[in-house]
Amino acid sequence: MSDDPGGRLKITAHMTYGQMRKYATSLNVNIASAPNIGHGLAGVYDDATNSIVVERRMTYTQKRCALAHELVHWSHGDSFRDHVLHAKAERRARRETALMLIDPIEYASAESVYEGNIYDIAEGLDVTPQLITDYQYLLDAKRSIIKNERIRA
Ligand SMILES: [Zn+2]
Repeated sequence: MSDDPGGRLKITAHMTYGQMRKYATSLNVNIASAPNIGHGLAGVYDDATNSIVVERRMTYTQKRCALAHELVHWSHGDSFRDHVLHAKAERRARRETALMLIDPIEYASAESVYEGNIYDIAEGLDVTPQLITDYQYLLDAKRSIIKNERIRA
């Protein structure tokens, strides 16, 4: 488990989809978009062809989050063909995508401005509501670790 996903992937909270595509190309990852990639997926990474396909029929924000997510899979060599590792790899990809695309200070400010409304926070930070949920899950986990450490101390 990495606490520093940005250390490997140079993706920041303010990168546009276009910048991310350019970055991916610089890493020699093939990026394409296609309609109806199937299974309700937003994107897939295939290690056999070293390519990421992003679902074309999505909003700009959804594409941005999907590309970042698939690049995390790429960085770990998580092929969508590997069903055994899949659940664990998927959790890691969601966690690392949230950490890359959400700035902690901006999140805290948006949470207070939008009074905790997930959809408004997501719009404010240009990410999907799913990513906000993933980020909140991380924050809760962090808070409970701190709490447990205090109890033990
Ligand atoms: Zn995934």
